[in-house]
This record gives sequence, C-alpha cells and structure tokens, in this order.
Amino acid sequence: MADPTSEPNSPDQPAPAGGPGAAGAECSEPDCSDAVAELYSYLDGQLDDERRSLIKGHLDSCSPCFEAFDFEADLRNVIATKCKEEVPQDLRRRIEEAIGREG
Ligand SMILES: [Zn+2]
Repeated sequence: MADPTSEPNSPDQPAPAGGPGAAGAECSEPDCSDAVAELYSYLDGQLDDERRSLIKGHLDSCSPCFEAFDFEADLRNVIATKCKEEVPQDLRRRIEEAIGREG
C-alpha cells in the first residue's frame, strides 16, 4: 500500500534567494504594486518617514514607477496651481478623488 512516488512533501524547490544581483529582480522592497498603491499617500504626505524613504528608494531604482510618480506629481501640481484660483474647492476635491480612485 505504500507508494513513495506520490509523496506530498517534495523539497526540491528552495525559495529563491532574491539577493543583490538576482535575475530580473530590480524591484524588491517595496515591490511595484506597493509603491504605486502608496504613491497617492506619498504625494499627500500621509506616509511616515520610514515608509516614505522606502517608496523613495524604490522610485530611485525603478524607472517605470518613477515615471508614474513623476506624472502624478506633475498632475497634482497643475491641479493645485490652476484650481486654487479658478475652480471651486468642491470640484477640485472631486478631481483628486477621481485620480485617487484610478487603478
Ligand atoms: Zn517599481
């Protein structure tokens, strides 16, 4: 009745180390989805120092995320500048909400 070929515990897949220089592991801590998810909090200044430096470090080493950040930062800048004088705060808030909901 013993069938050693169907043993459930096959320890032949060690976890990838992911150390420096690991293949294709440019984005590590935090990974891209984390970074993007927190971009808005970052831009709003809602992150604590530790979190901010993590995101910042990621942006420095990950150009796709940096571009996304740059775009959002620019957009916010434009909204903040243009809307301050011309657009009611209510509308401005709705725009920011719409941006925040994206993705
Ligand atoms: Zn990234």
